[in-house]
Amino acid sequence: MRQISYVIPVYNEEDTLSELYKELSKVLEKIECIFELIFINDGSTDSSLKILKELQKGDPRIVIVEFSRNFGHQIAITAGIDYAQGDAVIVMDGDLQDPPTVSLRFIEEWEKGAEVVYGQRRTRKDTWFKEKTANLFYKVLNLLSDVEIPQNTGDFRLMDRKVVEVIKQIREHNRFMRGLSSYVGFKQKAVLFDRDERYAGVTHYPLKKMIKLSLDAIIGFSTVPLKLISRLGFVVSGLSICGIVYALFMKFFYASITVSGWTFLVISIFFLSGIQMIILGVIGGYLGRIYDEVRNRPLYIISRVSRGKSIESI
Ligand code: UDP
Ligand code: MG
Repeated sequence: MRQISYVIPVYNEEDTLSELYKELSKVLEKIECIFELIFINDGSTDSSLKILKELQKGDPRIVIVEFSRNFGHQIAITAGIDYAQGDAVIVMDGDLQDPPTVSLRFIEEWEKGAEVVYGQRRTRKDTWFKEKTANLFYKVLNLLSDVEIPQNTGDFRLMDRKVVEVIKQIREHNRFMRGLSSYVGFKQKAVLFDRDERYAGVTHYPLKKMIKLSLDAIIGFSTVPLKLISRLGFVVSGLSICGIVYALFMKFFYASITVSGWTFLVISIFFLSGIQMIILGVIGGYLGRIYDEVRNRPLYIISRVSRGKSIESI
C-alpha cells in the first residue's frame, strides 16, 4: 500500500493542535493509505510539545521532530521533508489555515500522475496589508526571477518521492521552499482552494520575518539586483558627462560667478561616482556567478530515463 507523509511545522500552536489532529484524522479515514504524521516542534515555548506527546501516545503514526531552538518555518519544513519516508510528502501549516480536506484533492491529482501538487489560494482571509504586500511580492519576484513561481501559493503542497529526493540534495541555508519546489520542475499541478482564517493564536510571521522571507526569495532566485548596479553605473556616467559639460561651460563663459576650485570638484565627483558604479557592477557580475557556484544547485534534474534497448544489447 502507498505511504503518505504529512509534514507539519509547529511553533507555539497549543490552541490549535488538538483540533488540527481531530480534523486531519477524520480526513485520513477517507482513503486507504499508510500515513505518517511528522510534526516539527520548532522550539515552541508554550505547551505544544506536551500536547504532541499526548497525541503520540494514542497514535503511533505521529512522529515528533524536536528542534533545540526556533529555527524558522522554512527550516522546519526542510527537516520534516528529510525525515519523511512516504511515497508522497504533504507540507501543511499547523494553524489550520491549510484545510486538511484539500490535501485529499492533492492525493487524487498525485494518483493521476502529477508530481508536485500545490495549493493556490482562490481567496484568503488575511489582513488587507498582508494580502496587498503578498501580491506585490509575487509580482516583483516573477519579474526578477528566471524560475516561474506561481502567484498566491504557500508551502501547502504535495511532492512525489522523486521530487523530495532532489529537494533533499539542495542544502542552501537561506531557503525559500516553494521557490525550490518550482525550480526543480517535474509535472506541476495547481489545486485552487479557499484559505481559512488562523484557527487560534496570532501569526508568527511579523513584518520582520516577512521581509526576511522575501529577501531570501529574491536573492535566492535572482541576481538581477546585482546586474542593476552596472546599469545604474552607466546611467550615472551618462548624467555626469552632462554635469561635466555644464561645469566647463560655467567656468569658461560665466567665470565671474564660478567659485574657484568648483569646476575641478564637480568634475571629479561626477566622473568618479560613475566609474565607481560601473566597477561595482563588474564586481557584482563576478559575485553573482560565485554565488551560483557556491549554492551548488544541480546543473540539471532528470525526471525519467527511458531507453528503447539497453546499451549492452545494441
Ligand atoms: N512556524 C514555525 N516556525 C516559525 C514560525 C512559524 O514552525 O518560526 C509554523 C507555524 O506554527 C505554522 C506555520 O509555520 O504552522 C505558518 O506560520 P504562520 O501561520 O504564523 O504564518 P502565516 O500563515 O501567518 O503566514
Ligand atoms: Mg498561518
